Amino acid sequence: MEDKCPRCNWTIHDLALSPVLEQQLYDLIRRGEKMRFVQLLYRSLDIDLVTAKEIMVHQNFDYGVCVRCGYEQLNQERICCPNCQAFNYNLNFQTTAE
Ligand SMILES: [Zn+2]
Ligand SMILES: [Zn+2]
Repeated sequence: MEDKCPRCNWTIHDLALSPVLEQQLYDLIRRGEKMRFVQLLYRSLDIDLVTAKEIMVHQNFDYGVCVRCGYEQLNQERICCPNCQAFNYNLNFQTTAE
């Protein structure tokens, strides 16, 4: 796994999410509330606002779908899109929400 996004050269942040935080983030993702997603990350993790925004930019809001180009077959939780090379957090919140 690259530690930088090949597309924009952002240094990929290692996300360590508690189950509670994961659930809260998933709720925001489902509702498409991107700014609240950023604010929650910023408040909950020890990161600055720029990093929180970059995480949001790289988090897809539909599981398996590239956040940048819409490629639909991403199959790992951290993956560089085979179509456009953008890094995606492709977190499978659906499974943890069961
Ligand atoms: Zn990027
Ligand atoms: Zn892509």
